[in-house]
Amino acid sequence: MSDKRENQLSRRTFIKGAAASAGSLALLGVGIESAVALPAPKKWDEKADVVVAGGGGAGLSAAIWARKSGAKVICVEKASTSMASSTAVSAGGFAAAGTRSQKKENVQDSSDLLYKDIMSFTNNEADPAVAKMYSTQSLKAYEWLMDLGVPLVLLQHVESHSVAREHWLNAAQLMQLMEKEAGKQGVGLYLNTAATNLLVNDKGRVIGLRAKSKKGEMNIMAKKSVILASGGFAANLPLCGEFGGPEFRAVETLGGKGNVGDGLLVALRLGAATKNMYGSVVNENLAIASAANVTLPQVVWDGGILVNKDGKRFMRESRACFEMGGETILQPDRTAFIIWDSSMKKSPLTSRKLAREATLSGGPVQSGSLRELAAKLNIKPDQFEETVNKYNSNIDKNADPDFGRTTLSGTEGKPVKIAVPPFYGIQIFAKSYWTKGGLKTDDRCRALNWDNKTIPGLYAAGEIMFGNIGSKVLTMGTGVGGAVTFGMVAGENAAKEKPWTK
Ligand SMILES: Cc1cc2nc3c(=O)[nH]c(=O)nc-3n(C[C@H](O)[C@H](O)[C@H](O)COP(=O)(O)OP(=O)(O)OC[C@H]3O[C@@H](n4cnc5c(N)ncnc54)[C@H](O)[C@@H]3O)c2cc1C
Repeated sequence: MSDKRENQLSRRTFIKGAAASAGSLALLGVGIESAVALPAPKKWDEKADVVVAGGGGAGLSAAIWARKSGAKVICVEKASTSMASSTAVSAGGFAAAGTRSQKKENVQDSSDLLYKDIMSFTNNEADPAVAKMYSTQSLKAYEWLMDLGVPLVLLQHVESHSVAREHWLNAAQLMQLMEKEAGKQGVGLYLNTAATNLLVNDKGRVIGLRAKSKKGEMNIMAKKSVILASGGFAANLPLCGEFGGPEFRAVETLGGKGNVGDGLLVALRLGAATKNMYGSVVNENLAIASAANVTLPQVVWDGGILVNKDGKRFMRESRACFEMGGETILQPDRTAFIIWDSSMKKSPLTSRKLAREATLSGGPVQSGSLRELAAKLNIKPDQFEETVNKYNSNIDKNADPDFGRTTLSGTEGKPVKIAVPPFYGIQIFAKSYWTKGGLKTDDRCRALNWDNKTIPGLYAAGEIMFGNIGSKVLTMGTGVGGAVTFGMVAGENAAKEKPWTK
């Protein structure tokens, strides 16, 4: 689809979808009808060099790096805490090449290889300049997180990468440590404060932000730039349906509930261009029904298989986590089951997740026989037994004629039999994690208009601009990695802008 067509469609659809969800936006304190660019106000309530909208992974990173670059920074966050963001509840996978953690495990990697992997996995639909920037700058962002003390749980080789470069970080601690660093650096973080409008002068330059809190509205001057880091729109179901397809109108998100597309909407009204807004823009993944935030692909990558209610496998289980979600949503009753046995070697991440899931309703069930397990999970038993037996005998033959699984995850590990009781199973559902399309930017995270010109004073970082690094797929680890890295790049560059006023 050409950019112009995307422009026409996305502008029209976005506004229609946003209006459809105006009720939920109003609840969050954002008046959709007022999400337009406004002229310079008569009075400024606050002044800063750089103003950041959104205090999640990208927003905090942007705020800290702008501050480290010498700017006075205000960051407004709609929720009462940064811990309500998608970054905080994520699985923490961060893709970077040439890291100290890889060196420790003798993994040979380079930014060139990461770049090649991103372009190849996204079928060359990622913007080459942005992908190149990510491939080099993510190393700096990752090393910074290590210096802040963010714990690495596991380094793993996953689908979409040619070496082990998925650095699974403890995401909650990542956010806590960034919030602490923001305080230490002197970032003004205003919680319970929603960005509602961009303020623009008569030359079309963004000069500030209007925000709303319980105390009322305030106009915050941004002498240098505004950075939009308000996440994607996975919590806005009408929009997910419009851009992702009808099946996404009802897919609950596990991500930040405030991510309803506020930043996208205000920028679109200002003439900002989008990239990759169409197709399967919603990134779905696996979760158990009762859980607020659980990710289960690790169990599959450690050796589990996926079957549907009919007892049949339906995909190569070594594929990327969001592909598991995408396939699960197509199964009978939009559900599936992960099956494993007691001999499966669990990674530390799996053990941690399963320990938590065991405490939840809908958590794993176990049984001494495959038939009994099928009965407990309501799976057709004859077909289920046949499926597992066939899977096991194919492992003896070192082949999987049905789906081609020859590894556990990516190119790593050999599939293992499901043969030693007790057997385990867990019912899973596809839930949406994040959205992929977004504002078009250059490799400095400057927002672009439909003529590919920068919109003066406006930057975008994080999920709001992931369309630049992804397509219908997002290379694994470039979500959390993208939030922190693009935040860093946006913050550094925003702080270098020439001020429009003294
Ligand atoms: C369960 C889950 C697991 C995931 N696992 C991974 C993974 O392992 N690896 C990976 O790469 N990616 C993963 N992702 C995706 C990744 O976490 C996100 O895409 C990324 O962290 C988004 O960062 P962000 O800063 O753009 O958005 P967020 O971290 O969500 O921050 C956006 C913030 O903006 C605030 N906001 C919204 N509107 C406004 C407004 N009007 N004014 C002020 N504030 C506003 C929101 O409240 C929110 O705090 C996962 C996502 C989920 C949900």
